[in-house]
Amino acid sequence: MTNPIRLVIFGRQGAGKGTQCLRLVEAFGVIHISTGDMLRGAVAAGTELGLQAKAIMDAGDLVSDDIINGIVRERLAMDDVQEHGFVLDGYPRTAAQAEALVMVLGDHGLHAAVDLDVPLDEVTARMKARGRDDDTDEGIARRLALYEQETRPVLTWFAERDLLVTVDGLGEEAEVTERLLSTVRSAASV
Ligand code: AMP
Repeated sequence: MTNPIRLVIFGRQGAGKGTQCLRLVEAFGVIHISTGDMLRGAVAAGTELGLQAKAIMDAGDLVSDDIINGIVRERLAMDDVQEHGFVLDGYPRTAAQAEALVMVLGDHGLHAAVDLDVPLDEVTARMKARGRDDDTDEGIARRLALYEQETRPVLTWFAERDLLVTVDGLGEEAEVTERLLSTVRSAASV
């Protein structure tokens, strides 16, 4: 493929982003790049990066822009990503990361930044229903508030550059997938 699909995806916890990323991989053959997964992998492997990242992640803080930008830049340069394109998940999380991403991509810009939108009360209900240990009412509220605080400015950043597309994440999973795939097809003209 000469012009592989290049995407960023955003969504609140509980919005179904993980599942929908899999659908993007199946439909378009893109590589799923999750910075959270990469960092957890580094922690598990006990690398230098993992050692640095662990305490920060445990505290629920963000790893520094320099570190995360370096990791993403290296990953984007790899052959598989160059050939098949990507969906970035969990990055960028700050305006500085968004700037760095656009610099790295240069002429081969992003096709779209997708906001998989599920309203706050619905994701809260979904997370309460799944009843995981860390899904206390307080924990859920804190993580969702942090997302809002962190991510809203980055969504605005993409909207200002006409790259933001919003996909309604409510409804049957298959319906959401259809909406997502058709939105991406039109953004990437494929
Ligand atoms: P996630 O699975 O995307 O929620 O990421 C888990 C943790 O990894 C976050 O709470 C951050 O500590 C760290 N992390 C992941 N992505 C980034 C990023 N783009 N910038 C800074 N820290 C990140």
